[in-house]
Amino acid sequence: MQYRDIEDLYRLPVVRLPKPLTDAEWPKVMNALQDTLDKARANLNAHIIRFELHMRYEELKLAIRKHCVQLPRTPRMLLNPMPIDFIFTPKCRAALERPLDFSVRRVEDPFEAMVPALLKKWNTDVKKKLTRYLRRNLRRIPAGVDPLNLAIAIFTCSRCTDFSSHVPARARTMRYPEVLCHPCLRLEHGNLPHAEDDLYTRIVTRPNFMDDRYERNEEQKPLPCRCVPFDAGRLKDGPVAVASIERMRRVVSALGLDGARATTDELKACGGWLRCTLCEPGGPEEPVKRVYDWVAAFDHEYVHFCNSIDDDAERDSMWQRVDQPEVLTTIQELEPAARKALLSDRRPYWCCSLCWNYESSIRHIKTHLRDSHKIEDTDRAIRDGTIFRHPWIDPEGGRCVQVLRGDGSAHEEVSEGTAYSSDSGSDSE
Ligand SMILES: [Zn+2]
Ligand SMILES: [Zn+2]
Ligand SMILES: [Zn+2]
Repeated sequence: MQYRDIEDLYRLPVVRLPKPLTDAEWPKVMNALQDTLDKARANLNAHIIRFELHMRYEELKLAIRKHCVQLPRTPRMLLNPMPIDFIFTPKCRAALERPLDFSVRRVEDPFEAMVPALLKKWNTDVKKKLTRYLRRNLRRIPAGVDPLNLAIAIFTCSRCTDFSSHVPARARTMRYPEVLCHPCLRLEHGNLPHAEDDLYTRIVTRPNFMDDRYERNEEQKPLPCRCVPFDAGRLKDGPVAVASIERMRRVVSALGLDGARATTDELKACGGWLRCTLCEPGGPEEPVKRVYDWVAAFDHEYVHFCNSIDDDAERDSMWQRVDQPEVLTTIQELEPAARKALLSDRRPYWCCSLCWNYESSIRHIKTHLRDSHKIEDTDRAIRDGTIFRHPWIDPEGGRCVQVLRGDGSAHEEVSEGTAYSSDSGSDSE
């Protein structure tokens, strides 16, 4: 009980009677106190359970990391299931709910033993669901092609494209495996928790469950949203999903790749640039003003067509691949300036590949590289992958390069695309 509650108890008239407590008086006192004591016991119980779950949840998180991450880290190693995905798996729940053991004897960590099988099954199940989603929304898939690897295989999130919401909704270039960590697919909205949820569910699904901002018995309070295991059912099906895929197909085709077969790796490797013929209708003879990479091109379509998903002849021919040598030389010449701008940009969120979980903004990561790894050249650390952008808290946006300006100089523009926002990131080591 907190001091405030004890004081409340002390102020009750039945407790403050100025006479000795007799056997006859005791039941009266006890009756008056029963409710308060029951509530205090329930609070204490919830508090202990929450504390124990917090400790166990950390162990599960660590076991997943140990299994998925090796040094040096790569962005792919960070795209994994999360502890929340296993909280309702019976074996895992039993291990999460076992009481803490404070004895000094060494006990086996049950999570380390169960995580490999849990992850294997989860990955297989989720891959199946995501493949089914793509099969429903891709026009046709040639035999022998894995839809998950296709360059045009875009997943559309229901929440991000919820046109009724007040936040400007738009599709993003989300593919496999990045889709595994899209935040909306692990969030449930509504008036929560449900009446039938037990204490365990109420505690582990609270968004701030792992933070220290725990208030007394807060699992009783209503919530507008909470964390749930990954749910591919939160992806958008139907015309909006098909429209995102077709949007990507136009970009892929304009780059000269076969939309039906080209893989994401091939798309990334092709390194081509596109010009928007709706912004620059002058034709191939006109000097190129602005070029887009494939991510920025996908985003740019929004500028002309917003959320409309209707067929439009203009769309089909809006992209034109740029291969004039002088334009490509100009883009090359801009590379150092683009990297310099990135080095002074405070917004990106970087990961250190040489540490298990060091992640931070550019200012801190520069200090970290110098102090922990004796690396002074941050620019080179970006180029050789020693540090990389967090693949789902801050995925790399597209690039739009203004090749020709009124004053004759060229420069890099901020992409029209927006990164996923997340408040879960923090500087940590
Ligand atoms: Zn979303
Ligand atoms: Zn345009
Ligand atoms: Zn490091």
